[in-house]
Amino acid sequence: MSKTEIQAVLSGLNLHPSRRLGQNFLCDGNLLRAIVRDAAPAPGESILEIGAGTGVLTAGLLAAGCQVTAVEIDHRLHEHLGIRFGDSPRLRLVRADACRLDYDELMGSAPYRCVANLPYSVSTVVLTRLCEAANPPTALLILLQREMAERLTARPSSKAYGGLTVQTSLLYEAHLLRRVPPEVFLPPPAVESALLRLTRRSDAAPAAERRLAGDVARLAFGQRRKRLGRTLASRYGAERVGAALQRLGLDPNVRPEELAPERFIELARLL
Ligand code: SAM
Repeated sequence: MSKTEIQAVLSGLNLHPSRRLGQNFLCDGNLLRAIVRDAAPAPGESILEIGAGTGVLTAGLLAAGCQVTAVEIDHRLHEHLGIRFGDSPRLRLVRADACRLDYDELMGSAPYRCVANLPYSVSTVVLTRLCEAANPPTALLILLQREMAERLTARPSSKAYGGLTVQTSLLYEAHLLRRVPPEVFLPPPAVESALLRLTRRSDAAPAAERRLAGDVARLAFGQRRKRLGRTLASRYGAERVGAALQRLGLDPNVRPEELAPERFIELARLL
């Protein structure tokens, strides 16, 4: 859909894009085709799309023959999607808040991937929930704020490295595929975006351990300037933390950003 066509849909719905809902609609056919090409969806494959909006990406995924579960919170867009794709047996439309969904209940136990132009305001929460699912997506191809993509691909000891980096890296390998300028969206967001691929690791730790490691990382990065030993002691007690750090051969003065993601798993196991 061109910019004019999307504008016409929005005014037909009397919808003024909401910043709170991250309503920046994709209006660049070339980028859209590139996303579908990068996703390389296989006929019959199960795909989760979060924030389907006017359905531009949904249409590309359906055309590739996928089974699409499309989540949208806005009732006007949900209704529009129902009318636009009403006769498609391969589309399951879900009107829900992606931050509150139980993804195991929604997607079941079969493998699926997530392809989405994520609402930026909720991308951290949604990613955390997906990572914590018992059956997380096997891979994700997502458009998000460039700054967020940089956090997800950050290396230890860099400024962008943080709790979210740790949590996602324990499950996925992240690759930034392309930077995306604001002009491809209607309305253009204030910041640059990026297309990111996350591919599930074959050696990922079990979900319960990753969840614990995520908790430890969040606590640690809540005070990223402080020494790790001190921050963790506030919850786990100085003695236990001291013993765990010693066992791992870690200096109690180490800062959280110096620890690779796997070390948080080791720490969480001991704590
Ligand atoms: N996929 C469409 C596209 O590429 O043009 C729309 C993407 S737009 C960046 C994000 C969409 O997510 C909007 O349609 C917005 O209404 C929806 N959205 C925002 N917050 C949501 C939430 N918590 N749960 C589900 N959908 C949400």
